[in-house]
Amino acid sequence: MSDCLFCKIIDGNIPAKKVYEDDRTFAFQDINPQAPTHVLIIPKKHVVDIKSAAPGDAELIGYCQLVAAKIAKERGLEGGFRTVYNVGPDAGQTVFHLHLHLLGGRPMTWPPG
Ligand code: 5GP
Ligand code: ZN
Repeated sequence: MSDCLFCKIIDGNIPAKKVYEDDRTFAFQDINPQAPTHVLIIPKKHVVDIKSAAPGDAELIGYCQLVAAKIAKERGLEGGFRTVYNVGPDAGQTVFHLHLHLLGGRPMTWPPG
């Protein structure tokens, strides 16, 4: 998608601090971190969000969780971390290319705001 911020980051047209990349996913530091670790894991395929994803995207959506766990392990977040898919404006989604937030490195409260 030519008009998508995160597609531009994947293509290298907008700079980002890359954390991880493989054939299906790209991970980079959030520009406005909400925790010592705040990484966004995104599929290279342009998917808007989980509610508009196709059944065939299920493995990719879950795979992003495994990438998050791998990054969390590399960063020594044994005590815990949080992964979040914000879905839609009411949940705070502002970028409409599917992205999984990985947050860690500080105590987390529940429920989230
Ligand atoms: P959302 O609110 O859609 O769940 O999350 C979007 C996230 O993308 C936010 O945490 C925001 O800080 C981050 N973000 C927005 N624009 C950029 C950008 O240009 N570069 C990076 N690295 N992160 C961004
Ligand atoms: Zn996109």
